[in-house]
Amino acid sequence: MHQRYRAKGIFIKKQDQGEADQLLTIFTEQFGKIEVVAKGIRKITSKLRAGADVFYLSEIEFVQGKSYKILTDAVAVDRFDSICQEPEKSQIIYKIVELLNQFANQEATDEKLWRFLLQTFEVIENLEIRNLKLEIICHYSLWKFFAVLGYSPELHHCPLCCKKLLPETFFFVPSEGGVVCWQCFSANDLKKSGLWFPIKVDTVKALRVWLSQDWAEAGKVSFGQEAQQNLWDISKNYFIYLRENIS
Ligand SMILES: [Zn+2]
Repeated sequence: MHQRYRAKGIFIKKQDQGEADQLLTIFTEQFGKIEVVAKGIRKITSKLRAGADVFYLSEIEFVQGKSYKILTDAVAVDRFDSICQEPEKSQIIYKIVELLNQFANQEATDEKLWRFLLQTFEVIENLEIRNLKLEIICHYSLWKFFAVLGYSPELHHCPLCCKKLLPETFFFVPSEGGVVCWQCFSANDLKKSGLWFPIKVDTVKALRVWLSQDWAEAGKVSFGQEAQQNLWDISKNYFIYLRENIS
């Protein structure tokens, strides 16, 4: 008889397998990110269907098979109806989950990551869509999370010359710990030395607010489409950089 494991987790990805199975990726509180096979879940009669689907928070039970884990039970605690039904909300959650999926190591418990994921789901679920502040909430969550990990970037002074950053051309250089002024960027030939991004003045301003303020203040930040794209590029790449460089 296989030992049964219990956990609480959020389903973040599903892939069909064979006739009626699915491979599910779950971020759990107890085991970190795991993959389980849900046998026969695509059959209408499967009892797993009610508790195992993308973006559900569920109590799950699984056994360790010879080569993979098998989901034996799933009871939904929260199905996050609003996230599942409102496309804007699902889009944001997809982006966050995609980054998390890349960042989280397989089967490594990570309490901070778990709390971050749960909190983000709860906040976005309860957000009023009319405010159209979802993008902001999403970014805010991410950068707060970097800060929780201890990787809040330097946004006020150039880490190389220590001078105050003036609103001009600057670059986000993760290996230097934040935003570098253009003089230092060119003097140190940083263009050739790895990961860097041009960062817009509006992006720096937004990050300054988010990393020093609470939810209410963070929601007041507004910026254009271009700065938003710039922010996504930087958020995503910083996330990847951190994943590769911290452990
Ligand atoms: Zn400098």
